[in-house]
Amino acid sequence: MRAEVDSSTSGRQFKILQNVPLAPFTTLGVGGPAQWFATAWTEDQVGEAAQFASSRGLRLFVLGGGSNLLVSDAGFSGLVLRIAMDGMVFHAASKFAKVLVDVAAGENWDAFVQSAVERDLAGIECLAGIPGTVGGTPVQNVGAYGQEVSQAIRRVRCFDLTTGSFVEMENAACAFAYRTSLFNTSEHGRYIVTNVQFELQEHGSPNLTYADLQRRFVKSLPSLTETADAVRTIRRGKGMVVDPAEQDSRSAGSFFKNPIVERSILKQVAEAAGLDTFAVPHWPMGASCIKLPAAWLLERAGFERGYSLGNAGISSKHTLALINRGGATESNIAQLRDRIIAGVRDRFGVQLEQEPVNVR
Ligand SMILES: Cc1cc2nc3c(=O)[nH]c(=O)nc-3n(C[C@H](O)[C@H](O)[C@H](O)COP(=O)(O)OP(=O)(O)OC[C@H]3O[C@@H](n4cnc5c(N)ncnc54)[C@H](O)[C@@H]3O)c2cc1C
Repeated sequence: MRAEVDSSTSGRQFKILQNVPLAPFTTLGVGGPAQWFATAWTEDQVGEAAQFASSRGLRLFVLGGGSNLLVSDAGFSGLVLRIAMDGMVFHAASKFAKVLVDVAAGENWDAFVQSAVERDLAGIECLAGIPGTVGGTPVQNVGAYGQEVSQAIRRVRCFDLTTGSFVEMENAACAFAYRTSLFNTSEHGRYIVTNVQFELQEHGSPNLTYADLQRRFVKSLPSLTETADAVRTIRRGKGMVVDPAEQDSRSAGSFFKNPIVERSILKQVAEAAGLDTFAVPHWPMGASCIKLPAAWLLERAGFERGYSLGNAGISSKHTLALINRGGATESNIAQLRDRIIAGVRDRFGVQLEQEPVNVR
């Protein structure tokens, strides 16, 4: 490793390094090196890194907390830019008790959730325990336990790699939908999120739409802090909170999205499972589509918790989490992924889609 550019800003050195292993920057812990690697502590450094990449004709990949990535064994040829800007500004409540909060993209997501619930601000309490950075959350519109981050986002500030300038995008411009936004679809790779503005409800009630949560609070309405703690406890029981001592949490979260299919597919799935259509779990999605639980499809196709293929496996606590059982490579994980996708397709005729982002 050697420093190519070395400038000091706010006491934090901005260095562009070569040949930096990426696996330690990911929760799955697989993958090869970045050809070039830098950490941005300020917005100016984001611009500096973009300039470095464009002047050399390099591809640029934005790294947050590495909790939704599958990095290739060959690594990434180009510049990996790790986003580390920090800072949270809680503004005064409006007369409707709405509170705006500006959060830098490199802040830890769960730390922000905790700061919000401790101030009795509702809107993100069910998203407690999700790993990664604040800047990573709008990208795939993270969601859990009945909430999606897009419901609380007001505005996203980004560096536009096409124009080389900063832009502020209102919620409606971000094209949020189930696990998608313009950042991971139509404008994939164009924007670097540097700051997110949230709108939270002061003294709001917790969202208790999920049965798992309701069951814990049958006697009284919990506070927002209690709700967030309960979500973390439920998640921990499923290996869905990153814990270095817990092999089942060495994952990229849910590896497959819940597939959205035409309603007519339900009959085909029911027949393949030997069930009546009403016995197949599903959620309506608009007039003509349904969402099927990917975990149910995996289990019925023979891919149960604890299933293993060499050093890769399925978590013993969560059917959708593919884990690094120790010493796994990207190709081990990919082999298991492909076996599962083929198995579900052969059994039900349903195509699963990978949720983590491929870095290659
Ligand atoms: C144990 C575990 C549990 C999880 N549970 C959930 C869950 O309940 N719900 C859920 O939705 N997800 C979940 N995830 C997935 C993951 O935590 C989220 O997607 C998270 O928001 C990713 O953020 P990150 O900072 O780690 O992004 P990374 O993994 O570093 O990057 C993911 C993608 O976002 C892009 N990106 C990251 N930061 C920026 C930025 N500042 N600007 C532009 N692009 C950026 C990257 O380029 C990449 O394409 C889980 C993951 C793990 C490991």
